[in-house]
Amino acid sequence: MNEASGINLELQKLEKSAILLGRRSMPLQLVLFVTSRCNMRCDHCFYLDEINDSSRTELSLEQIETLAKELGGLHWIALSGGEPYLRKDLVEITQAFYKHCRPNIMSHVTNGYYPERISVMTKKMADSCPKSKNLVIFSLDGLEETHEQIRHSPGSFGKVKESIQATQKHQSEYSNLETGIVITAQENNREELIPLIEYIENKLMPDGIYINLQRDHNQPSNVLVDPLTLKYYQEAVVFYENLRAKKHLKKSSLLDRLLDGKNKLQKKTIAKIAKENAYQFPCLAGKVSVVVDELGNVYACELLKDPIGNLTSQSFKEIWFSDEGIKLSNSITESKCYCTHECAMSSSILFNPPKLVQSMISGMLG
Ligand code: SF4
Ligand code: SF4
Repeated sequence: MNEASGINLELQKLEKSAILLGRRSMPLQLVLFVTSRCNMRCDHCFYLDEINDSSRTELSLEQIETLAKELGGLHWIALSGGEPYLRKDLVEITQAFYKHCRPNIMSHVTNGYYPERISVMTKKMADSCPKSKNLVIFSLDGLEETHEQIRHSPGSFGKVKESIQATQKHQSEYSNLETGIVITAQENNREELIPLIEYIENKLMPDGIYINLQRDHNQPSNVLVDPLTLKYYQEAVVFYENLRAKKHLKKSSLLDRLLDGKNKLQKKTIAKIAKENAYQFPCLAGKVSVVVDELGNVYACELLKDPIGNLTSQSFKEIWFSDEGIKLSNSITESKCYCTHECAMSSSILFNPPKLVQSMISGMLG
């Protein structure tokens, strides 16, 4: 990619931010399920019905590249699944998005079961996508016994540890490579959340820990969390925020502080929704963010099950600017749809000016 096309993609991102002025624009954030294949069967997986359904095909690399071309400049792309590293062409898929979208952040969420494959592929991605932050997020839901019970995968704790360490070895060579660990707080691990965070901080030392709250995927406003799990979740969130504040007190940049402020607001809002089962602020899914599954179905978010179109028969732009696409995105805000979905809420804060200001203030206050 030459410098001029890189600048062009950056300008496209700015242009798309016209969404802030209320104009429909192409999305800035994409979640792409590259496969539904997975070697695990986790208790909390929202994709269990689709996992390893052999009738499900996958978009080809060429179809994905066409999507990337159409999307243009993106702020963030998350490649997920299934287990994304099971796709042999994951590096090429990542490079296609880098070439056509130049995302600020490219994240891959993995269960970490394949250390060698993850290490080799991640190095190639970091090497060939130097101007994007390459973030590998490993799922870890408990100390050894709990993690392996939740994931129904003996030996998986050792594997994910190995994968994290193998990936971190590349960080001295690639400053654009970061590691994160995501914990899904649920009934089966709630009492172990704080010891797990301590273990992660002391032994695994990722760049960030993300604590998600388990969702009930059977209903859109999937907020029915039992009060005890919610209590443990909130305690774990505060515990980690305090740890992070101490650790980053002196060296955090303005951007880090803004993101910390955004995370705080996000967690607070999630807990409030889960507690009160009530709307808090507009969700921008279907406006700022979009989800595409491995079959090419295009959704406003992971939770609203009816696709607005399919990429094997229509272009992305035809789907996105169709009456159905526009109607759905408007109905999400008009009906005051709400849920505790972390990714959708993240963009709903970052692209909502009053919430962004609130995040900045919260980040500055520490
Ligand atoms: S590793 Fe991820 S995709 Fe696979 S079963 Fe677990 S949650 Fe689902
Ligand atoms: S609030 Fe947003 S992310 Fe949640 S179900 Fe509604 S549209 Fe989807």
